[in-house]
Amino acid sequence: MSKKITIAIDGHSSTGKSTAAKQLALKLHYVYVDTGAMYRAVSYFALREKLLVNGNLDKQKLIEKLKDIRISFVFNKDTNNADVHLNGENIEKQIRTLEVSSVVSKVAEVSEVRAKLVEQQKAMGDKKGIVMDGRDIGSVVFPDAELKVFMTAAPEIRAQRRYLELVEKGDDVSLEEVLKNVVERDHMDSSREDSPLIQLPEAKLLDTSEMTREEQFELLVSWAEEAIEKA
Ligand code: C5P
Repeated sequence: MSKKITIAIDGHSSTGKSTAAKQLALKLHYVYVDTGAMYRAVSYFALREKLLVNGNLDKQKLIEKLKDIRISFVFNKDTNNADVHLNGENIEKQIRTLEVSSVVSKVAEVSEVRAKLVEQQKAMGDKKGIVMDGRDIGSVVFPDAELKVFMTAAPEIRAQRRYLELVEKGDDVSLEEVLKNVVERDHMDSSREDSPLIQLPEAKLLDTSEMTREEQFELLVSWAEEAIEKA
């Protein structure tokens, strides 16, 4: 049997990281973890607890309440997906809105939030055989990952893809506001002090601007096979 490795996929917002990572995990029979969903779950909690008013986050209250937040992933056999749960409640749908997207980078800046989620993420990967996607997976969560990938694409293309997804779900959004959110999140995620999104020199670059999902998948599989071979 081949050796199990750790695969870290980082990159800009709406590059198709989750789709590619999920497909790759399925092919390798690995566990897939969407860490963005965890930051979104904390953001949803903050919105529900009214800790975010007019875009201002009550950081201190959020830090105090972190002990009341339990995030888990539960397999949903109807969608073949692992849904994110907050204290036992399935919030998979609620976290995918533009409302949550527009506050998540602010919540993700809080070091105490990051420390809590990173601890859980490290534990999920302690047996390897995992594909995890996010912003700091190769740099902070699994610095020893055998394969690191950095995904990007032109902002307009990413916004168009995300816009179509949201409209398909019935969300009332405009392409302009989606583009604004994508650009703002990239900026905040790359410029924050704690664990900013960076393109590591050892990471393989995957620019999906002009690639089909099949082409992205083929390339990822070849990189993974190469890394498994070397491990
Ligand atoms: O991946 P997704 O776009 O769902 O992530 C939502 C947000 O969560 C990102 O824009 C970023 O602010 C934050 N995030 C993070 N670190 C991660 C994953 C996501 O800061 N590992």
